[in-house]
Amino acid sequence: MFQKILIANRGEIALRVLRAAKELGIQTVVVHSTADADAMHVRLADESVCIGPPPSRDSYLNIHQIVAACEITGADAVHPGYGFLSENAKFADILAAHNITFIGPTGDHIRIMGDKIEAKRTAKRLGIPVVPGSDGAISDPAEAKRVAAEIGYPVIIKASAGGGGRGMKVARDESDLEVALATARSEAGAAFGDDAVYIEKYLEKPRHIEIQVFGDGMGKGVHLGERDCSLQRRHQKVWEEANSPALNSAERTRIGEICANAIADLGYSGAGTIEFLYENGEFYFIEMNTRLQVEHPVTEAITGIDLVHEQIRVASGGGLSVTQDDIHFNGHAIECRINAEDPRTFTPSPGTITHFHTPGGLGIRVDSGVYSGYKIPPYYDSLIGKLIVHGRNRVECMMRLRRALNEFVVDGIKTTLPLFQELVNNPDIANGDYDIHWLEKYLAKTES
Ligand code: ADP
Repeated sequence: MFQKILIANRGEIALRVLRAAKELGIQTVVVHSTADADAMHVRLADESVCIGPPPSRDSYLNIHQIVAACEITGADAVHPGYGFLSENAKFADILAAHNITFIGPTGDHIRIMGDKIEAKRTAKRLGIPVVPGSDGAISDPAEAKRVAAEIGYPVIIKASAGGGGRGMKVARDESDLEVALATARSEAGAAFGDDAVYIEKYLEKPRHIEIQVFGDGMGKGVHLGERDCSLQRRHQKVWEEANSPALNSAERTRIGEICANAIADLGYSGAGTIEFLYENGEFYFIEMNTRLQVEHPVTEAITGIDLVHEQIRVASGGGLSVTQDDIHFNGHAIECRINAEDPRTFTPSPGTITHFHTPGGLGIRVDSGVYSGYKIPPYYDSLIGKLIVHGRNRVECMMRLRRALNEFVVDGIKTTLPLFQELVNNPDIANGDYDIHWLEKYLAKTES
């Protein structure tokens, strides 16, 4: 097992990883920017190293400084959290070259899944259902028309290097296609320095359902069920739940086994999430994230398994603590992402939190890195905490969530809490009846 883990992240996820490391009796080092000198992860870690000024590219993305911090402190492993360097293959390779363990998959697996065309090709080869579309990159309008005619309109043009929902264009018919192709390519080129795009069938009313997987790097793979993350705004997840209100247990087992087998075949190591769009009973692969997800606690709530413990175990060569037969799904869990944002416009609302009081009681978990008197720096994302609620079934979970939201107090800044108070009382949400467009339509309809 590792002696000392360096956590290359900040905010609630740095704290999340720190807690797991402490439970396992491992020493912790955190790195931080000058803007985060007072952050909770810095206060609770055994050691901390300031690695640069506030902008991420000079601190949390500065590979050179992070490797130097490992060497100074003698850390033998790095947990990257999510975001920042968590899906940076070069970072994983550099750590390996320095004999420091990257708590995550190999650089090569990160690379394959970071290129969407390659990821889709790999998924297909491994028997994962994919969205019908072009086999590879498309640049010629005539070829685009041929592929689109074959799969049928509407189609979506997506950037191979894409992320964060950027570089995607929908074409409703052939007259849209040429412009959509040209716009998607130039947007992709500008945003990612790579203008390769591909075409796939545009699904009109899908849900976003993702499968949590784990590989031990030695040919074993398991799945931990799904999360339904259909409630999104601008492709950013807002509310996540497990199980999905749309799936039955036979469907869960079927898609879960496909994913677990794929992970085993790939020889994948660590946590991963295979993301699908789900429509009319069919799953369509869109991408795989090769890291821990923000929404991982809903899976922890229904399985009772600490995913960060498992990541650390697997990375240290100790294998998974569970087999598929040990994994059972109990009850229902919902996560609300509490952002320091206006609940209507989602404009960031940095500033000082004058009062912070979190709910408690049975089935309530709050993962947050903030406290009363904490000043939210304007440089990073606006997530200030996650409320995760567990109940024996979805009805109990919703009752408990409604109660917990009423107890939650964050003063001094605007947060998305009022939006969740609306959602928890909405009949469509109560019925689990929503797709990936529901939230944006709701926000447009209720605009004041
Ligand atoms: P990114 O990596 O940029 O987030 P994804 O491939 O994960 O890109 O897609 C992001 C979102 O775009 C999906 O959650 C979905 O809302 C929409 N989307 C992507 N592909 C399709 C598709 N084929 N049909 C309909 N919507 C899609």
